[in-house]
Amino acid sequence: MTDSDRAKFRTVEPERRGQTSEEVVTQLRSMIHRGELRSGDRLPPERDLAKLLGVSRPTLRAGIRSLSAVGVLESRQGAGTFVVKADESPALDSSSLSLMASLHGFTSKEMFEARRALEMSIAGLAAERATGDQLASLAEEMAGMYASLDVPEEYLLHDMSFHQMVAAAAGNRILTALMNMVAAVLLDARRKTVRRAHDLKESAEMHRKIYRAIRDRNPESARDAMRDHLVLAQKAQEAEVDWPGRGADQSQRKGADEEAA
Ligand SMILES: [Zn+2]
Repeated sequence: MTDSDRAKFRTVEPERRGQTSEEVVTQLRSMIHRGELRSGDRLPPERDLAKLLGVSRPTLRAGIRSLSAVGVLESRQGAGTFVVKADESPALDSSSLSLMASLHGFTSKEMFEARRALEMSIAGLAAERATGDQLASLAEEMAGMYASLDVPEEYLLHDMSFHQMVAAAAGNRILTALMNMVAAVLLDARRKTVRRAHDLKESAEMHRKIYRAIRDRNPESARDAMRDHLVLAQKAQEAEVDWPGRGADQSQRKGADEEAA
């Protein structure tokens, strides 16, 4: 433990030191807000940090796990625990959105509408901003999709990275984080859909349209292609999966084609 660590972490007043992981989370969060912990910083070793914060090691570990789950900290095997680097895509915790969906009965219609709003903007921006390297990566994912038409689980991985790459090409990390938060709530359902998907060719074709519009620097048609893709994906998912929210829109649930998102 260095002197600067000791000085930094001394800010927890002894009487406020507690035994709960929430307090560990609160403390580390406010240090980040105050700029005392910065992106890329390594936390002191567990034993030292537990002492500095006045908590037990299991409590500290629980706090670190919570902050890792929301993408603030990351543990690297053998190297320690770090505050995530600022240039990596930030992740927002989707559990509160998921909880809200159950509590307030968000409909799948609302979730997909939110996803569409985000991803259409993202596709439009990607068409304006994608670099040559990013276009090459998108083309690679396209090839991966076509190569895995008969292996739905593998197809889904290419599908997901395709959307991540479009988001990276859009170059707005806030939109990316929001997209991921919404997508995480929809993802479990998506897995079930894709497992039953028989014909992924149509899905691959729609991604190719998105890719071509981005490559051709045509924001309008990139947005349209993304909308068409997500509308079809919504129909497929709603036909296949019981939505957890109470207000699931039953009228949407029949006659849809099977398709991955
Ligand atoms: Zn897709």
